Amino acid sequence: MQLYEMTLHQLSEMLADKLISSKELTQSVLERIQSLDSKLNAFITVDSNGALKQAESVDNKRLKGDSLCVIAGIPIGLKDNICLKNMRTTCGSKMLENYISPYNATVAQKLLAADAVIVGKLNMDEFAMGSSTENSYFGVTRNPYDITKVAGGSSGGCAAAVSCGEVIAALGSDTGGSVRQPASFCGVVGLKPTYGSVSRYGLVAFASSLDQIGPVCKCVKDTAIMYSAIVGGDKLDMTSQNKEYPNFEVGQKDLKGLRIGLPVDMYENITEPDVLERFENAIRLLEKNGARIRRISIAETGYALPAYYVISSAEASSNLARFDGVRYGFRAQNIQSIDELFVKTRSQGFGDECKRRIMLGTSVLSEGYYDEYYSKAVKAAKMMTHNVKQLFESVDIIATPTCAETAFDIGKKVDDPVKMYNSDIFTVLANLTGVPAISVPCGCAGNGLPVGIQLMADSFCEQTLFDAAYWLESLVNAPERGCEDV
Ligand code: GLN
Repeated sequence: MQLYEMTLHQLSEMLADKLISSKELTQSVLERIQSLDSKLNAFITVDSNGALKQAESVDNKRLKGDSLCVIAGIPIGLKDNICLKNMRTTCGSKMLENYISPYNATVAQKLLAADAVIVGKLNMDEFAMGSSTENSYFGVTRNPYDITKVAGGSSGGCAAAVSCGEVIAALGSDTGGSVRQPASFCGVVGLKPTYGSVSRYGLVAFASSLDQIGPVCKCVKDTAIMYSAIVGGDKLDMTSQNKEYPNFEVGQKDLKGLRIGLPVDMYENITEPDVLERFENAIRLLEKNGARIRRISIAETGYALPAYYVISSAEASSNLARFDGVRYGFRAQNIQSIDELFVKTRSQGFGDECKRRIMLGTSVLSEGYYDEYYSKAVKAAKMMTHNVKQLFESVDIIATPTCAETAFDIGKKVDDPVKMYNSDIFTVLANLTGVPAISVPCGCAGNGLPVGIQLMADSFCEQTLFDAAYWLESLVNAPERGCEDV
């Protein structure tokens, strides 16, 4: 087995036992990037020299006998909307094509303090708006299982890179499903943590009340390790919650009697029969092994998608107002007036999807429409939060497929925004209600593409999620990871 094929926790043990060095491991992923990324396009920026230098410095610390963290020496990638000092942070946009971040995001700072090796910045839909990474100014990321298919989005670069061993783990961002949906399409694990449990400082904002940074990893145990590395309150992010967070672990608990709720009224949204079949198979396995399955109903889920697109676009229109050619990144040329500077910079700097969201968001916030759309969407989200909270009194986990289908053809939905928005049908609920959710592979469909199952738990119950996800992972045959002959 090659080093790049192994999991974070396996590699961490091998590093600790000095069976391998971080330099060897980093070289192994860099070679993988070299041989695959011209096809996959998972990376926007690769920092080979910086990564090798960092790996050597960790190796030296280890040789000196310093006590090191679990993720020390592990090659990790960051979605390109997470700021890393002195590196480009493009957000997949022409607007920030040459923007160099002057500071580290809190999560980046935490990874560096734990001696992780940051290999580079990963491709994404422009400003994290999309479900296929086709909206990236830097071109689409392809699915390692089949390069004619999308990797999912908006963290498509993260999922593709982890799936084929270009990095051992990655951090993405999830506003409406952007960590879980690509994880599901690429056969890896993705976590959207409880809102407020991970600092958003240094994450370029899309919709601030919904955005969370979350790990993309090869297995559940690695995900628990990465989450433990980034969790925690931060005085630089006032929405983060300062609590005692445990060290998250897996495999400690007997899960007999775990109560799993199935919102059966959501099943009609599943468009691919194989997805339903794989999902039901996973649930049957859990039941056979002692889980208590209940049918539940989340009555307002029909409002989840419209509420999400109203709220997220409203917030995006406000957050993206700062890109005006004055302060950051791209500035249009041959300008006669300040108005022309704004108009030309924004017309030329943003892609179609960003413009669509800015217009939608500005419209739902404008006088006359605010009450009609924006306040109603916020009310719907509050109702859902209340009801989901109540449901978690009678179940520990709510399970759905992560997506209604497997990875779709490149080009299939890019000209039909509403079809693209429908990709998020199962994932937006967790963002609107703030609860944590994880996507775990549950086998492959007949077309050979991975299927993911989504588990949600009550706020700050990530440990329950990890326990259930780990259990599931041990029962279901994981899809073969990566592809030698991409
Ligand atoms: N696909 C959703 C959107 O386009 C979610 C994006 C995300 O989670 N960043 O808004």
